[in-house]
Amino acid sequence: MAGGERILVVGPAWVGDMVMAQSLFRLLRVLDPDAVIDVVGPPWSVPLAARMPEIRRGIALGVAHGELALARRRRLGVTLRDEGHERAIVLPRSLKAALLPWFARIPVRTGFAAEGRSWLLTDPRRLDRQLLDQTVKRFLALGLPLGAPLPEPLPPSLRIDAANRDALLRRFGLGQAPAVALMPGAAFGPAKQWPVGHFAELARLLVAQGHEVWVLGSAGERPLGEQIRAAAGTGVHDLCGQTRLEDSVDLLATAHTAVTNDSGLMHVAAAAGTRVVAIFGSTSPRFTPPLTRRCHIHYLELDCSPCFQRECPLGHLRCLREITPQAVAASVLAPAILPAEPNQPPAVAVPARPQRIET
Ligand code: SF4
Repeated sequence: MAGGERILVVGPAWVGDMVMAQSLFRLLRVLDPDAVIDVVGPPWSVPLAARMPEIRRGIALGVAHGELALARRRRLGVTLRDEGHERAIVLPRSLKAALLPWFARIPVRTGFAAEGRSWLLTDPRRLDRQLLDQTVKRFLALGLPLGAPLPEPLPPSLRIDAANRDALLRRFGLGQAPAVALMPGAAFGPAKQWPVGHFAELARLLVAQGHEVWVLGSAGERPLGEQIRAAAGTGVHDLCGQTRLEDSVDLLATAHTAVTNDSGLMHVAAAAGTRVVAIFGSTSPRFTPPLTRRCHIHYLELDCSPCFQRECPLGHLRCLREITPQAVAASVLAPAILPAEPNQPPAVAVPARPQRIET
C-alpha cells in the first residue's frame, strides 16, 4: 500500500471540467508523489480517469445531472468509509456534491462555500473570482493550503491507447490522409455552437486541400454530423454517436488538428496533444482556454460578449456567425508554430491569456 496521503476528489459533471481537473491531480502528485488519488464522478468519467496516470481509481456515481439522489450518495459514502481517505476536495460548488465526503466521514473536506453547504465542509473557502479567474485556477486553489500562491497549471495530458487507436482507424477506414477532426457540438447550448453550415463549408475547404475530415460528437449530435457530411461529401467521415469518450481521446491524438467549439471535446483534444483551433462565442477563452500551447483561438470579443448564455439573447449570434469558414481554414492550414507534442506534454506555463485571439 502506498504511503502518501489518501485523497478523494469529487469531480465535476462536465467533460471539459473533468479534463481540466487533471491539472489539480498533477499538482497533488507534485506536492506528494506518493499521494493516492481517487476521483468520484459520473459513469462516463471513469474511462477518462483511467487515462490519467495520477489517479488510482475512478469511482462512478450514477446520478443524473442535477439530481439529488440522497440515498445513492449516502450508500456510496458509507461504502467509502473503509477506504481511509484523509482529505476530500469537492470541485463542484453544489450542496449535493459535498454530501458524499460528509457521508464518508472524511476528516478534512475542502470546497468553496456555496449553496449554504459550509456545514458539510471542514475547510470552506471563499471564492475570489478576481484572483481565481479561470476554472483551472479554482481547482488548483482547492488543492493548496488557504492563501498559498497558485503555481502555473500543469496541462492535462491523457494517456493514449495505441491498440484501441489502431482498431478504430481500421474499423472506420480512416487514416488515408492527414485528418482534421471537427467537433460541432457543445452540450451547454447553441450559443456555443459555430453554425453547422460553417462547419460544412470548412469541411469542404479542407477536403479540397487533401485532408480527411472526421466529425466527432455524441449520438445527440448525429444531425450535425449528417449535415456536414451531406454538404461536404466524400472525404468526410461522420463518427457522431459511434465512438466512446475514450475513443475520441485516441482518435484526437492521431488527428493533425481539431476544430472545435468551446466544449468538452476541446479540452479532450488539448489533453490528447492535438493542435487545437477553438471557436468561442458566448463564452470567453480567458475563463476556460484549452490548456495547451498548440492552440489558435477565434474569438470576436463583441461588445455583448461574453454573455455566458445558452442561447443568444439578441437572436443574431453574431459572435459566431461572423467567424468565417475561410478564416478558420486558414488557421488549420497554417504551418504549425509549435511541433507536435507527445501525449505527456512537458510541464509548461499556461498563458494568462490565449496566445492568439483573432478579431
Ligand atoms: S449576446 Fe453576443 S455574445 Fe451572447 S450569444 Fe449573442 S452574439 Fe454571442
